[in-house]
Amino acid sequence: MRKIAIYGKGGIGKSTTTQNTVAGLAEAGKKVMVVGCDPKADSTRLLLGGLAQKSVLDTLREEGEDVDLDDVLREGFAQTRCVESGGPEPGVGCAGRGIITSINLLEQLGAYEEEKNLDYVFYDVLGDVVCGGFAMPIREGKAQEIYIVVSGEMMAMYAANNICKGIVKFAEAGGVRLGGLICNSRRVDNEEEMIKALAGRLGTQMIYFVPRDNMVQKAEINRKTVIDFEPAHPQADHYRNLAKRIDENDMFVIPKPLSIDALEKLLIEYGIAN
Ligand code: ADP
Ligand code: MG
Repeated sequence: MRKIAIYGKGGIGKSTTTQNTVAGLAEAGKKVMVVGCDPKADSTRLLLGGLAQKSVLDTLREEGEDVDLDDVLREGFAQTRCVESGGPEPGVGCAGRGIITSINLLEQLGAYEEEKNLDYVFYDVLGDVVCGGFAMPIREGKAQEIYIVVSGEMMAMYAANNICKGIVKFAEAGGVRLGGLICNSRRVDNEEEMIKALAGRLGTQMIYFVPRDNMVQKAEINRKTVIDFEPAHPQADHYRNLAKRIDENDMFVIPKPLSIDALEKLLIEYGIAN
């Protein structure tokens, strides 16, 4: 079983890209579980067709300790297994706690056990905060493999570089490795070349370039992934290709984060100067 965590700046497209890619893996016959690690609890709605998924934390709050796997895990598109860890009440407590509690509970309830025959677990992790609870999936080996969603926008690249710093910290103690950058295009000039260059400097690869396409939002309004909503659309093939690239990936590295100067130089070289 491969345990993958998806990181990246807020709003960059982590949840969308994760679910669309998972749909591609599931369509190809892989057994996949998705664990949403964002208090927004929107990591599985496209796989579940918009069905309200009760989060692990809400379930624990309402039903106490007596929880079954069926209470927190729902089956979605192509038999994907969907969980939302949820969050604390706004303004109270640490959202990272939700992730810790959820993963512990899922383990207790046997969600990862052999007989489930899972090929993949994906953790869709909130924001670019690689500290405390949010780093939980990569701390202690809950996830071994990281992909960072990024675009050619400066703040997305800054966030990716910061996430790399976090990975370095945990890679030395545990076994976590970076599998690559997923460029989710914002149609910035020279974007593909720039993200390839960034990946090269970080010692990793750009594993795929996902074009920006309104079909993604159209499918989203219909509460579906593109593969589910419009399987013949070219964008559906992009997600199938990304799924295949991840499935066949064998490049796992400890990244080499850039200094701010080097990052800004890269931006000037590829972006601003052109
Ligand atoms: P995150 O989980 O990183 O916060 P989301 O996955 O919620 O971000 O994405 C934010 C918005 O961007 C969503 O409304 C989504 O439809 C849109 N989006 C993501 N990727 C694409 C894409 N390749 N083309 C068009 N829209 C996209
Ligand atoms: Mg999200």
